[in-house]
Amino acid sequence: MTRTAYLHVPFCRSKCRYCDFYSRPCGNEDQLEAYTRALLRQIGTAERSALSSIYFGGGTPAILGTRRLAALLEALTARFSVEADAEITLEINPNSLGCADLSALRRAGFNRLSIGLQSALPKGLAVLGRTHTADDFLRCTDGARRAGFSNLSADMIFAVPGLSVKENALTAVFLADCGPEHISAYELSYEAGTPLTRALEAGTISAHGDEAAGEMYTQICALLRGQGYEHYEISNFAKPGFASRHNLHYWACGEYYAFGAAAHGYLNGRRFSVVRDTDAYIARTRGEVYDESCDDFPAGRISDEEAEEERIFLGLRTAEGILLTPALEAKLESQAAFFTRCEEAGLLARNGGRLRLTEEGWRVSDSIITKLI
Ligand code: SF4
Repeated sequence: MTRTAYLHVPFCRSKCRYCDFYSRPCGNEDQLEAYTRALLRQIGTAERSALSSIYFGGGTPAILGTRRLAALLEALTARFSVEADAEITLEINPNSLGCADLSALRRAGFNRLSIGLQSALPKGLAVLGRTHTADDFLRCTDGARRAGFSNLSADMIFAVPGLSVKENALTAVFLADCGPEHISAYELSYEAGTPLTRALEAGTISAHGDEAAGEMYTQICALLRGQGYEHYEISNFAKPGFASRHNLHYWACGEYYAFGAAAHGYLNGRRFSVVRDTDAYIARTRGEVYDESCDDFPAGRISDEEAEEERIFLGLRTAEGILLTPALEAKLESQAAFFTRCEEAGLLARNGGRLRLTEEGWRVSDSIITKLI
């Protein structure tokens, strides 16, 4: 199997209220230059192989500017054998880039944009601490189309506090009207230490319960399916032929490179994360070979048992599901009453030698997957 590459840019202009990703306030030019040079050094010493996709995420990668982004992509294509039809994604915010930048990035080789809308409603954007508007999103997608991007993805968040069930689903209506090729819809999660979680703890906002969140999910799924999107993974929807190859590779337990501070990777049977500190990361790239001594390798080489668990919990996120191996059949048999009830309730399906969760099953996937691993 070919590999993929993830490159992390941990800078943001402001911090969204729900976000616990590793990101720092936007650096000055010297910092951005130093970080880019560090990425180039890490790329330049990576083991060579074929790549089927590349993903620039963050943070806000656009902060690096088009010249540096293009140089990084050029370095990746020089170091690796990037497949001719590779999916090359850049994550952006709706107000990150103008038309000229989008055209330059398209010419540089990026062929997919993942745009973080999150909510189409002003009050949703305010609760989440986003600094753009729905109009910015429309301008951005229009500019992207004119720049030649024919593969756009948009992210939305539901179960936003202060919005009703119907209002939460309105963002999906807005997106379906805009018609990006791909939509990711994530339920809001309250991560420790974020301003949104502190507001929840202080009682100034209240979270939607499981039932309301489930209702929103059901509405969003039905709405997007009705507009021609295939629901191909718990949180992801795509027009035919536009499922994210980068993410499918991840859910199929494929290996991938990790470039940049706090990036997560999986290479040669080991999962790891690059040091979560930009200065330490920059220092680490100064040698002839990237110094991974302070990166985190929590599990070492993953065992066969761990690999099987990953195959189950990542594969069951997808509509394709997983191959029913004799070992898995035996597990289903050992708790036959439970799994028969799941099948009768339409949560789980066994056919064509595969095991799948249905859309209803995805809502309760944790309780089912726990029984399998
Ligand atoms: S732009 Fe993205 S990475 Fe940056 S703070 Fe917001 S959610 Fe987090």
